[in-house]
Amino acid sequence: FALLFVVTSGIAQTKKHLDTSKPVEERITLLMKEMTLEEKVGQMNQYNGSWDFTGPKPVGGSEEEKYEHIKKGWVGSLLSVRGVKEVRAVQKIAVEQTRLGIPLIFGFDVIHGYKTLSPIPLAEAASWDLLAIKNSARVAADEAASSGLNWTFGPNVDIANDARWGRVMEGAGEDPYLGSKIASARVKGFQGDRLDDFTTIAACAKHFAGYGFVEAGKEYNIVDMSNSKLYNSVLPPFKAAVDAGVRTFMNSFNTLNGVPATGNSFLQRDILKGAWGFNGFVVSDWASIAEMITHGYAADGADAAKKAAIAGSDMDMESHIYVAELVSLVKKGVVKESVIDDATRRILRVKFELGLFDDPYKYCDEAREKASIGSKAHNDDVLDMAKKSIVLLKNEKNLLPLKQSGAKIALIGALASDKNSPLGSWRIGADDNTAVSVLEGMQQYKNNSLVYAKGTEVATNKQVFVNEVEINSTDFSGFEAAKKAAKEAEVVVMVLGEIGFQSGEGRSRTELGLPGNQQQLLEEIYKVNPNIVLVLNNGRPLSLPWAAENIPAIVEGWQLGTQSGNAIAQVLYGDYNPSGKLPMSFPRNVGQCPIYYNSYNTGRPVNKESNVFWSHYSDVEKTPLYPFGFGLSYTSFEYKNLKLSNSSYKKGDKIEVSVEVSNTGNLDGKEVVQLYINDVAASIVRPVKELKGFELVALKKGETKTVKFTLTEQELGFYDNQGKFLVEPGAFNVMVGWNSNEGLTLKFELK
Ligand code: BGC
Repeated sequence: FALLFVVTSGIAQTKKHLDTSKPVEERITLLMKEMTLEEKVGQMNQYNGSWDFTGPKPVGGSEEEKYEHIKKGWVGSLLSVRGVKEVRAVQKIAVEQTRLGIPLIFGFDVIHGYKTLSPIPLAEAASWDLLAIKNSARVAADEAASSGLNWTFGPNVDIANDARWGRVMEGAGEDPYLGSKIASARVKGFQGDRLDDFTTIAACAKHFAGYGFVEAGKEYNIVDMSNSKLYNSVLPPFKAAVDAGVRTFMNSFNTLNGVPATGNSFLQRDILKGAWGFNGFVVSDWASIAEMITHGYAADGADAAKKAAIAGSDMDMESHIYVAELVSLVKKGVVKESVIDDATRRILRVKFELGLFDDPYKYCDEAREKASIGSKAHNDDVLDMAKKSIVLLKNEKNLLPLKQSGAKIALIGALASDKNSPLGSWRIGADDNTAVSVLEGMQQYKNNSLVYAKGTEVATNKQVFVNEVEINSTDFSGFEAAKKAAKEAEVVVMVLGEIGFQSGEGRSRTELGLPGNQQQLLEEIYKVNPNIVLVLNNGRPLSLPWAAENIPAIVEGWQLGTQSGNAIAQVLYGDYNPSGKLPMSFPRNVGQCPIYYNSYNTGRPVNKESNVFWSHYSDVEKTPLYPFGFGLSYTSFEYKNLKLSNSSYKKGDKIEVSVEVSNTGNLDGKEVVQLYINDVAASIVRPVKELKGFELVALKKGETKTVKFTLTEQELGFYDNQGKFLVEPGAFNVMVGWNSNEGLTLKFELK
């Protein structure tokens, strides 16, 4: 009987939309003609599907309900389904057991890789290497697509400048210009040239919008900001993602000026779908439609559904509210059916573009899955990305690079042997403990003697979400063995920082030093052997003033993914010359947060030469510990002959800036040459500096290259509070430098 029903329901549909010779929009129209209101609302419903679909049918609870909903055609998408077998099993239900056979779209948090992990996104941003970043997203897409997935919830393009916020690890740092370039590179990497070649996945720009500016860096907090700040600092990477062809957006948990982003039609309708002409779809963040009730913005589920749908949230992630409320809201005339039609059309469009209607199982190929996941090529690629992400923060006493033979080295710190933390937060597709540790990486340099001592544990529990990570600050029992190892060594390498889940979602912190008793360990070791190379493993800027002052060599090694330990070892031993530059300012202490290079003058005088800064904290240096754009190399670079093509320009002119950069050291190396501008007087006060160009230049030792930049109105203008783009005449300062704080400067006039 069941079989008969399936066959009968199969005959009931006309399937005209499957005709591939017709244009996509026509196919959507044909399909939508067949759809009931319930089925349309079903497309707008996304459930968490992280359970076993290959096993027996779930009985009881929400899983059974979800299963029944899938069969009725009331589910358009699932998230977090893992692997080809699972995807195929549930796709079969959607395609073969529902009335219209509309395939599901499978979303997943492929944030920095699926199984073979790249560095966390903040670390990748430190490479300033757009090709490498694009390729890293490409690798992630390839693995995800060969696991049956079609869609990632990335890239995170939230600009953020408060290191207290744990999710800074997911973004590209504090700068909208760098952030925009990286957003575009990531979208192109995930989506490739075609969405339907089954090795690419649809990307998702998130979290729209403002989430990176949660008040005081406290997770899920409110965001209040002027529109000009929104347009100039928050929106550019989202716009860059749209320009790069991103197919989906995710909204965010925060309110923006009092209105939850999920219910915000200014953001989603006026800007995204209106001014920017975006024709993909918007997914809510996890239960963010329901959260509008907790926010105090919606009275109940029906009110939340109405507000979110009208505001342009097309798909409900795991609130279960659209599926429960929207049909009756339409029937009552509270929500127009055209709102549902628009959302459905957008969702179906992306499904058609992905080729899901043409072959819903095309992503489900076990042989491809086996060949792609964890392949040698992918490991080589993530290793390359990991090396490019490392930032050399300090190198005195010639400690680095380490000698490759005959050296006696002590390696200290729990993170040095940790195979889990380098995987960072957001790696739900990967297996635990699959990173190469620093210990394993260094052990490959066999001509040295290497003694390892843990010293202390960072945390006593590891993977927790809502609860606090339990930091070890009481167990000092490993200190003696570590001190002994240090005493007997020529050089001590200490790997300290955060465990992998100390940054990420739900991980705001009020302290930014080394967690637990790691700082004490560092100081104790320093007393017995000051020749320390400190390798940091962390997901956010840390404030380490004592280390910056006393420790001779510091390497920012972030959380670098699967190949972490190999990358760090190759940098430490000089097989790779680091060229990373910080994408976020590092504070001296928490009280400085948020601290960012593109800040504003107050009305109070500033004179850097005589160290006069009226607006300041009286108990700490005025500067960050390490500024945005900062990073050293094993070679040295010199900048000279900064030139402008003219000293004054008319509107519309191209402004050519050039500078000579020489490698004056003894090794080949790469340097990120950075161009900043400052609009001296404007109708809305502009930042003291804004990055408007950069180039990663490879220079052989002794080599000089002329680096050229072009400034157009696009770089010189800014948005006002109405979102209007203005290019105003007046004076501009230009700086081309090796970080945001140091460089050569010139001035020009825009007439
Ligand atoms: C996060 C999103 C993520 C989603 C699905 C939410 O908690 O904010 O970034 O994509 O969960 O896992």
